[in-house]
Formats: sequence, C-alpha cells, structure tokens
Amino acid sequence: MTDRLMALAHNPLTRGLVRALGLPQPTPLARARGGWSARPFVDQVMAVGGVTEGFALRHAREALAEGGATVLASQAELGGRDVHGVVFDATGLGGPGALRALHDFFHPLVPRLARNARVTVLASLPEEAESPAAAAASRGVEGFVRSLAKEVGRRGVTANLVYVARGAETRLAGPVRFFCGVESTYVSGQAVRLSTGVRAPATPPLHQALAGKVALVTGAARGIGAATAERLAQEGARVVCLDVAALEDAVKATAARVGGEALVLDVTAPEAPARLVAALKERHGGVDIVVHNAGITRDRTLAKMTPEQWDAVLAVNLAAIVAADDALLASGALRDEGRLVYLSSISGVAGNFGQTNYATSKAALIGYVAALAPGLSSRGISANAVAPGFIETAMVDKMPLMTREVGRRLNALSQGGQPRDVAELVTFLASPGAYGVTGNTIRVCGQGLIGA
Ligand code: NAD
Repeated sequence: MTDRLMALAHNPLTRGLVRALGLPQPTPLARARGGWSARPFVDQVMAVGGVTEGFALRHAREALAEGGATVLASQAELGGRDVHGVVFDATGLGGPGALRALHDFFHPLVPRLARNARVTVLASLPEEAESPAAAAASRGVEGFVRSLAKEVGRRGVTANLVYVARGAETRLAGPVRFFCGVESTYVSGQAVRLSTGVRAPATPPLHQALAGKVALVTGAARGIGAATAERLAQEGARVVCLDVAALEDAVKATAARVGGEALVLDVTAPEAPARLVAALKERHGGVDIVVHNAGITRDRTLAKMTPEQWDAVLAVNLAAIVAADDALLASGALRDEGRLVYLSSISGVAGNFGQTNYATSKAALIGYVAALAPGLSSRGISANAVAPGFIETAMVDKMPLMTREVGRRLNALSQGGQPRDVAELVTFLASPGAYGVTGNTIRVCGQGLIGA
C-alpha cells in the first residue's frame, strides 16, 4: 500500500507544495532488514542519566555499552553531536518535587534528538512505592513519556516507559536493546511492565536469538502473520506456518520462503487443537513459540449484526485460541521457557464503531494474557499481547480512501505501520531476552490517537 503523502513530502518537486498546504510531513521511519546484531549501537551516541545512580541505570548503561553505543556520562560530553538514544532512570523518584529532574534532563536534549532517535524512561512500579507521594511521582512519569512521544513523533522519534518491578533491574538488557533499537520503530507512547516472575533463561543470545526454537504462527499466509514467520526465521527459528485450505498456496509459499513448513488447518475446526498438538509433537517434539495471529473481522453495527457474524469472529479470534492453548498446555507440547504471543488490536483497547464483535474478542485477549501469565511463570513461559494500530496490509486496502487517510495520519508518527513493525515486536516478545515481560499488552500503533 503506497503512502502518497509520504512520497509527495519527500519529492523535491512537490515538497514545497505539501508544506504550503500545511499537510503533515511524516519522517520516513528507520527499519531493519536483517536479523539482530550483537552490536546494534555502533556509531550511535546515547545520553544516559537518572534521578539517582541506581541499579536500573547501571544495567541499562551496560546493555547500551555492550551493544557498541558511545554512552555519554554527562550532557557536557555531547559537544555538537546529535543523540540517537536517551535512557533516563526515574526509578529513584521519592515524591512530586523530584519530578523536576525530568524537565532538567530532557529540556536541553529534545532539540538534539536525531531523526528516528529513541527515548526510553525507566520508573518504579507505582504500587511498590513506599508512599502515596512516591507512587504519584512514578505514575506521573507515564504522562510525561506519553506527552513527549507526541511532541517528538514528527521526527520519527519514539518514547516509551518501562516500569521496573523491584528485583527486575537485571532483566533490563533485552527491553533496553529493543526500545533503543531500530526494531521498535512503530512502538511509541507505551508503558511496559518488567517483572521478576518468569524463570530466567541461560544467558540470552544477542544474535540468532531463536536458533534451535520451533515456532508456530497461525494465519501465516499473508499480512502480519507472513511477516512474523519471516522475522522469526531470520532469528533462526524453525517456523510452522498455519493457515486455512483456501490459502494453501500462499501459506506454502510463506513456509518455503522461511525454510519452514506449512500446516493447513482451520483453527476453529473441532479437531484443530488435537491436530495441532499431534503435528508439533510428531514433527518437532513440541513447540517453543506460539503466535496466535489468525484473525477475522465481520464489521457491522450491533443493530445490524447477525448472530453468525458475531459467532464467526469470536470463534476465530478467541475461542480457537483458548482451545489451542488448553491442548498445548495439557499435552505438554509447549516447552519450558516458551513464549506465547497474541494479536490483539487497538480496537480491543478503545473500541471501534461497527466492531462490537471484533473489539470484544481483542479486548478479551488483553484480559486473557494478564490472567494466564502468572500461572506459567514458574516454567519460564511468558504470555503477552500485541495490539497493532493502522498497519498497511490487504485489510487496510479495502477501506474507503478518506477513512484510510485519516486512520493513517492519526498517530504521533503521522503514518501507517508496516507488517514488519508488528513482527519486530512479536519477535522481541518471543525471544529469551524478553523474559522480564509477561502479562503485558503492548501497542504497535505509532502512538495512535485512538485508544490513547
Ligand atoms: P489478514 O487478514 O491479512 O491475515 C489473517 C490471516 O489469518 C489470513 O491469512 C487468514 O486466512 C488467517 N485465518 C483467518 N481465519 C482462520 C482460521 N479459522 N484458521 C486459520 N487461519 C485463519 O490480517 P492481518 O492484517 O495480517 O492481521 C493479522 C492479525 O492482526 C489479526 O488477528 C488481526 O485482527 C490483527 N490486527 C491487524 C491490524 C491491521 O491493521 N492489519 C490491526 C490490528 C490487529
């Protein structure tokens, strides 16, 4: 799907006209092509600071330095250079007065942020604060980050918050790499919770992070599912690509492209859970990563929606997922240190006109991961949902022109995301290094105004 405004805004012949008409001039987003590198931050200048010289700051700084970044100890070292990333540790906030540190640190840095720079702020969990005043300060950071993200988005800059539970500081390396890296290009204005529950894996690999892992991606024939299969395979996973018989050729093509295998199955079929378990156990002895991506829409206002339209959406988007998980867990097919990822939607966060059925199913997944995750932690398994916003897929192609154009611009980055952007977030959550992240729903929506 072509973004014509983006093309016009960056064509020397039409750039002036776009500016004169006051139209948004979105910054082309930086995107990776290949897999993760062990040293992604070589040649990048990162400014790091904190309310105090805390434990979280130390771990974040180490992660950046290990990734090859030039980490500045103070802003005075910046000289005439731009910053490619900023990490600020606000975990030491004792009360409202301490919030001034955010202004003091960021005020001089904002004009120095390079295009596509990354801002990551760390805060303590408000419910773990020692006083209501400290809890207020921690929670205040979320408002700061979400607002800053809106101010800097036009330059392709993203800003995200990581709430760090007490004891979870040692789990920061993976999230810091992701949120400071090019891969988080369409994730902005998010607040992610890092917790201690999930058993830690052996030292997480920084390159070919999924080598030796078996992944199942449902709905892998096209769109986000195909991009996810490709991305997981790039990190070394063996991918089982599932889709319906009507798309058999397409799902076989995805499987061939990623060096994986196709599984033709309707996830709503009564025998689907058992067939899934059998296929994974017989061919691979089990599965490590499950991406529940298959989903459908049957949009209608509630007054006009038939019971069949309601049932079809709830069956694919929710009931089939729960049934598959029940079978994967009961049979032991899902291995220890497994990763479960679910495709929710911003419709599930905010609701959407004509989507009572779809939004119900997608909101249900948000509740499902939160309830499912704690029970799986002791086995080292995590469960998270990803909520895409406006992603340029075939689904979007069918929208009327104006709806499409409005949907595309109503976010801090003024553009739609690519299937790969969603796949990047899924891949991060599927990786061993994401073991601190569980029970979360993370939006990949360029900080869409809908559901904000
Ligand atoms: P898509 O329609 O291009 O792909 C969905 C895939 O799921 C298709 O290949 C389809 O055949 C498969 N599928 C549907 N029913 C199935 C069944 N019963 N059994 C097996 N496979 C089945 O959609 P997409 O845009 O790539 O979206 C992927 C996921 O992301 C969906 O869950 C969707 O709800 C969610 N999502 C997409 C967007 C977006 O902007 N594209 C936004 C929010 C959420």
